[in-house]
Amino acid sequence: MNTYSDWKDKASWLSIRNQAFIDGKFVNSISGKTFSNINPATAEKLINVAECDKADVDYAVAVARKAFDDGRWSNMHPSERGKRLMRLAELIEEHQDELALLETLDMGKPITESTRIDIPGCARCIHWYGEAADKLMDEIAPTDPSALAMVTREALGVIGVVVPWNFPLMMACWKLGPALAAGNSIVLKPAEQSPLSVLKLAELASMAGIPDGVLNVLPGFGETAGKAIGLHMDVDMIAFTGSTQVGKFFMEYSGQSNLKRVSLECGGKSPHIVMNDCPDLDRAAGDAASAIFFNQGEVCTAGSRLLVEEGIKDEFMEKLIKASGSHNVGDPLDPDTTMGSLVEEGHMNKVLSYIDKANEEGASCKLGGTRSAGRDGFFVDPTIFDDVKPSMTIAKEEIFGPVLSVLTFNGEEEAVKIANDTIYGLAAGLWTKDISTAHRMARAVRAGTVWVNGWDPSGDMTIPFGGFKQSGFGRDKSIHALEKYTDLKTTWISL
Ligand code: NAD
Repeated sequence: MNTYSDWKDKASWLSIRNQAFIDGKFVNSISGKTFSNINPATAEKLINVAECDKADVDYAVAVARKAFDDGRWSNMHPSERGKRLMRLAELIEEHQDELALLETLDMGKPITESTRIDIPGCARCIHWYGEAADKLMDEIAPTDPSALAMVTREALGVIGVVVPWNFPLMMACWKLGPALAAGNSIVLKPAEQSPLSVLKLAELASMAGIPDGVLNVLPGFGETAGKAIGLHMDVDMIAFTGSTQVGKFFMEYSGQSNLKRVSLECGGKSPHIVMNDCPDLDRAAGDAASAIFFNQGEVCTAGSRLLVEEGIKDEFMEKLIKASGSHNVGDPLDPDTTMGSLVEEGHMNKVLSYIDKANEEGASCKLGGTRSAGRDGFFVDPTIFDDVKPSMTIAKEEIFGPVLSVLTFNGEEEAVKIANDTIYGLAAGLWTKDISTAHRMARAVRAGTVWVNGWDPSGDMTIPFGGFKQSGFGRDKSIHALEKYTDLKTTWISL
């Protein structure tokens, strides 16, 4: 187990990949431009990174298309593709410390989370899809006996993957695992705030035997490189994770170009409902705190709206404040830290402006409410607002920071009404002893995932993940994600 000083020592000699990865090689951007990559915990520059734009996207898409068309990966035996993906999963595990450090230095999350959650989760995901690569069967349709109609799945071609900064490597792996297992080629743009771990992954993919040109990684900005991928006439599908606003841009890009398929994983404002008959108030309070403070609240499924029933409200608030005390802000490289820095100064200012708005609109601040004192980086203290009304800005908009809104309700019907009073529908949580209440409410809440009596308890790969409403459509994880990177073909043979 690494200590604080071990991590600081490792960080000082870490080698960082900062060029684009195209056709199996690390290369500068065609323009030669670079942009600064900042460590948000110190506000200091880590390194300059290649700034790709439309010219690089055109080049990478041509490379990916050639790789797809000549079959070096798409026509490889699926079990061999699977073997190489499983080798990649092993390499992720072997390079766990390095990848965890890149993730933590790049976006500010605690090293303990990078090592315990992010990197093992990535290895598990890639391994799972490696195992699945030769498990998808095709169909023979039950037609008239004078014909044989085969329904087969084919890889789509070139997939544009555009991902956010909150789980940089994991969001990439959730797309890469199924897309590569199905035989596609990839052009991936990481978020400009967090390109480093995915560039390392590209190197490991090459070591694992994923052929040149199949996985290309282009650091750059959304409005240039991201838009060029979205508008490209030779990209067959976009797999996007990020904000709802940018998700809508990708729908427009598709309509303005080649009608490429679009799969969107977007924002959330997830309700976490605690009924009077909650089976364990201490555990629910602990989960309510983790649901908002884990990863500094920079989680699409963050339990940012806590709905507590009147009868247990006072007792629950006491337990919640106590449980929140175990979420300590600190240097992300310190293994005792549970909350690191926010990803960048602009984002911290946005989070602080929501706190100002909550105070102006009459919510009561019960914890935190300020930038963390005595630090050069972009830290905000864990913050809880009580007396929040559904109409207040902090109850409606995604803050994507450590700010919890507590709302009070009376009865199941009101809880469901408040829970569904949002444009989002990513996840929800519910605490009740009554199995009928649990089933009724889980059905009534419009969300892609509903957790009962425990908030997000597992990183299980077998379950689909994704949203209803403006949280997007398309699913990551599970066998369903593999389906979305393929198309159905019918071959009808008259006998
Ligand atoms: P973002 O939408 O600003 O950026 C996401 C990606 O899109 C980045 O790579 C960015 O460079 C690119 N991009 C930005 N503007 C673009 C444009 N005009 N054209 C093309 N590409 C563009 O999101 P973010 O700030 O990086 O991440 C936070 C958001 O991601 C939150 O809304 C969060 O809920 C969401 N998210 C959703 C999930 C999920 O699975 N549903 C998971 C993680 C994060």
